[in-house]
Amino acid sequence: MYLNELQVSKLRNLRPVHLTFSPHVNYLFGDNAQGKTNLIEAIYLLCLAKSFRTRDERELIPFDDHEFLIEGKFHDDEQLEHRVVIHHEILTGKKISVDGKRLSQFSKLVGQFPIICLSTGDHEITSGPPAQRRRFFNVLLSQCSNRYLDDLKQYEQILKQRNSILQRLTTAGKEHKDELEIWNHQFTHFGAQIIKSRRLMVNELNQYLADYYLAITKNKWTLRINYKPNVEDHSDEELAFQFSGQLKKMASREMRQGVSLVGPHRDEFQFLVSDHELRLYGSRGEHKSALVSLKAAEAAVLHSRTQICPIMLLDDLLAELDQERCATVISLFEKSSQIFITGTTLDYNAFQNIGGLSKNPSLFFVENGTLTRMKNAENSASYRGIN
Ligand code: ATP
Ligand code: MG
Repeated sequence: MYLNELQVSKLRNLRPVHLTFSPHVNYLFGDNAQGKTNLIEAIYLLCLAKSFRTRDERELIPFDDHEFLIEGKFHDDEQLEHRVVIHHEILTGKKISVDGKRLSQFSKLVGQFPIICLSTGDHEITSGPPAQRRRFFNVLLSQCSNRYLDDLKQYEQILKQRNSILQRLTTAGKEHKDELEIWNHQFTHFGAQIIKSRRLMVNELNQYLADYYLAITKNKWTLRINYKPNVEDHSDEELAFQFSGQLKKMASREMRQGVSLVGPHRDEFQFLVSDHELRLYGSRGEHKSALVSLKAAEAAVLHSRTQICPIMLLDDLLAELDQERCATVISLFEKSSQIFITGTTLDYNAFQNIGGLSKNPSLFFVENGTLTRMKNAENSASYRGIN
């Protein structure tokens, strides 16, 4: 599956453009602040209905405008075309259609066009707070299974209800206690489903992680993820039961603090490099290598679960990764996936050195929101004095 055409009518600083991409490797070069990440964001939106940069999609509307509008045409493995249109008007909100049919729920888009994005904010997955790691797992699992996304949505809704009841309990006394118990059954049911799915996913990722980390770093250290569910770890059958038991134990503390203290919304995932926690001991280069290995493992799992090769978005790949590691990363993905790689004009030479430009990729240059396709590497070399 790959993105064949992209039409941006209005999005951030991008000028209206209609592009056709290579099903293999696409490079986007340009100076800082020209619109490279904005284009990557457009592709991500078409696959996941959300941005990876902001929760407030009004930010995607060009300054002094009132809407954004993008369209993509994907080709599946049978070469059937699927057309996705996203239109967000400031007053009426977002509308998404797939093959001319409007989606009643945006979550229906998730998983149809699997995608993996490596962007500068992702360093938080290995180095930031636990919420960033939970977010990573939620996005991956949602693309693998609509069921997970449904469980997660239900769980988050009940969590909100529970927290508001707990807050009332702290202020207004215990008369709402029964109300809390009504929610607990569903809370533990959906929570247990989430924990089971996360546990399976960690096991699957771990099957690939050490090999990819070895391929990228070429050293003897291994990388794996240790899942630390907030509900004490038990067999799948006992999980919901154990979860209820822990809720009972924590009941008075929850009531005092007015917030839900047990459940997968407090899960942690540790990245371990040869058994040492990366978050505490890792160098910047190790974080980046671990992150790229994680994305490679993510691609392998997504492919095996959905039977579709995900599109890879590698924004600013060369930042903090040396040329050799970049070359390994590209070689990991280029055989099977459609890849979009962005770099500054300086990175152009680096990609030439590592042979990334020798395999006839599609090249685009971005300047002041305008995207130009270059016919081949020689033509592009003369572009704006790059040599
Ligand atoms: P870098 O190499 O620094 O990562 P980039 O080419 O990836 O740069 P983008 O993040 O794509 O740059 O941003 C390009 C420009 O888009 C920035 O100057 C930014 O201010 C501008 N921009 C962001 N949002 C909007 C918007 N809603 N309307 C107009 N311009 C915007
Ligand atoms: Mg950028």
